[in-house]
Amino acid sequence: MHNVVIIGSGCAGNTAAIYTARAGLNPIVIAGHEPGGQLSLTTEVENFPGFPEGIQGPELVENMKKQAQRFGAEYRHGTVIEADLSKKPVRLNMDGEWIETRSLIIASGASARWLNLPSEQKLIGHGVSSCATCDGFFYRGKEIMVVGGGDTAMEEANFLTRFGRRVTLVHRRNEFRASKIMLDRAMANPKIEIVTPAAVQEVEDGGTGLVTGVTLKNLETGEVWRREVDGLFVAIGHIPNTKPFAGQMDLDADGYIVSHGGARTSVTGVFHAGDVQDRVYRQAITAAGAGCMAAIEAERYLEAEEH
Ligand code: NDP
Repeated sequence: MHNVVIIGSGCAGNTAAIYTARAGLNPIVIAGHEPGGQLSLTTEVENFPGFPEGIQGPELVENMKKQAQRFGAEYRHGTVIEADLSKKPVRLNMDGEWIETRSLIIASGASARWLNLPSEQKLIGHGVSSCATCDGFFYRGKEIMVVGGGDTAMEEANFLTRFGRRVTLVHRRNEFRASKIMLDRAMANPKIEIVTPAAVQEVEDGGTGLVTGVTLKNLETGEVWRREVDGLFVAIGHIPNTKPFAGQMDLDADGYIVSHGGARTSVTGVFHAGDVQDRVYRQAITAAGAGCMAAIEAERYLEAEEH
């Protein structure tokens, strides 16, 4: 039986691990299916305080992990596939192994949303990507397409013009969810062509195993046409990683954990930290702050439980 188990090894989970380890609680961190979280998928981080010259995302998150390990946090490779929060101690199924814990910090983050076309799924990592900062480099001088109408899509489209010959931004509506400044920037970029209202119907590889083109449909006129592209970046939002907790705690309609004040969830002794609850700020520094809050809450909960 553990004092505290932390699900997730991104900024939130690692910070919770540093705090709970320093409090002598011997935390167990379950690294999850994307170890290091979203920072491990980025390059330069320029807005994390304390690094005047910036720092690489993977280095930042690795440093946090080392810091937590220095105080005794134990990291385990694995993913929580099932949970029982109905009684104490809380039980977690990590890839078939059941783990019991007196308190739990859920810092499992949010994962990229996909179009869910079989042809798209087949070509992830072979021309289909959800991370421009990770994969943009591979498309120097190439034809790139970005799908989405939010800030992420605008940001990725702008970023990808550093590499691509042309970036086509495809969005399903004529109105954009993106903030005006981000949309204006994309519209003013001569290398970005915006196509609306349109949807990607099929991703093609022409038998090569790499993306060669897409089939697009105009959602107003029904017109269908083909476009040659080398890289397809899907930027249509994220899905919080809360599947094992569905029906066991308050989640909102999109699956994000509902906060019950501070880092508290609807289940006593279970706390949230980072993007699994935060759909607004989604920053490394806010996730780190949330990890600290969850750790302090868990510490106080355990202390109160003992008295
Ligand atoms: P959003 O939820 O804001 O936007 C998702 C976009 O994808 C929408 O335009 C949506 O279309 C579209 N979409 C969703 N599902 C599908 C689908 N199945 N097929 C086609 N299109 C689809 O997500 P973002 O990731 O863009 O942004 C998330 C949050 O992060 C926002 O609050 C954003 O402001 C913030 N952010 C801020 C940045 C910054 O300030 N620098 C940078 C990046 C993100 P529709 O509009 O029709 O629903």
